Amino acid sequence: MRKVTYPHLGTFSLALEGLLAGLGLEVVPPPPITKKTINLGVLHAPEFACFPLKISLGNFIEALEAGANTIVMAGGTGPCRFGYYGVVQREILLDLGYDFEMIVVEPPQGQWQQALDKVRALCGNCSIAQGLQALHTFWRKTKALDCLHAESLAVRAREAEQGATSKAYKAGLSLLQAARTPGEVQKNLREALALLAEVPQDPDRDVLRVGLVGEVYMLLEPYANLQVEKLLGEMGVEVKRAVYLSDWIKEHVFLSSFYLPGGQPVKKAAAPYLAHFVGGHGRESLGETVLFAREGFDGVIHILPFTCTPEIVAQSILPEVSRREGIPYLSIPLDEQSGEAGFITRLEAFIDLLRQRRSREAARAVQG
Ligand code: SF4
Repeated sequence: MRKVTYPHLGTFSLALEGLLAGLGLEVVPPPPITKKTINLGVLHAPEFACFPLKISLGNFIEALEAGANTIVMAGGTGPCRFGYYGVVQREILLDLGYDFEMIVVEPPQGQWQQALDKVRALCGNCSIAQGLQALHTFWRKTKALDCLHAESLAVRAREAEQGATSKAYKAGLSLLQAARTPGEVQKNLREALALLAEVPQDPDRDVLRVGLVGEVYMLLEPYANLQVEKLLGEMGVEVKRAVYLSDWIKEHVFLSSFYLPGGQPVKKAAAPYLAHFVGGHGRESLGETVLFAREGFDGVIHILPFTCTPEIVAQSILPEVSRREGIPYLSIPLDEQSGEAGFITRLEAFIDLLRQRRSREAARAVQG
């Protein structure tokens, strides 16, 4: 009997867990990420590997120890190490003596037969109707999770009592996790949004707006980014995250499968600074920074894993983007060595600078 696991990726894990269960599989979710997960990944991964590879390796070890025997992992293409994650992790886990099967799901890019073969290998007995229903619910749930998350960022920046938004958001996530059909997802999303709407607000708070750009895994997984959104929200900052997984799936799975271009406004915005693909999300980090500047955001925070080549390319061009577009930015590389205290100090200093800048601009506007 298959016992399937997967890597954590923020709230997306809830949608993935629902999909696998909907396909009739026994699911063994990886335990929540802790220091132990990171230590396991760091111990067994090559030292120079990207931080996301180490964390997901730790997830797999903990899930295999908990009884999983099948790992579902995403694959990728292009000049970036992500495409090798599954292969490298499989070899490491085999060397460690685990007995398991790893199914690497690549974006179809027109190769629908290959994609279908992978799905069949995973859930041989599942009927087409059951598969379609599970996929439909998964897609609705992914979008609902993203919608709830975006709303929580706006609410947290204005909450009258610190922690109230996080509590309501957590309750909303449980509602979405429990939904089993597309209809239930929609109903539970309405209830979850209502919980956020009940969070008491401070109408007088001077809220800054900050865009969050960077490497996709680091943006989506709160443990990896040291809860940057929660920290900023509790400082009175409304964060807008540039990447949501539903958008990523739309572009990289649906549109690319029909050879349709996606993300055109972002690529166009990046073009004066970087006109070609450099792997990962590097070009997008620049384009999104330009768009945040044009939307009047106060600043941008760029989060990247140490040694991430695409984001290092973006980091080297960000000073020019910042100067020409008139938007301050803070670029923070993170890995297993990063400490929370230093991270918070850097965020606070940046937010202070943004507040001073806003006050100066307001004073200048008054002087005429
Ligand atoms: S985008 Fe960066 S961190 Fe992610 S796999 Fe590629 S090189 Fe590694």
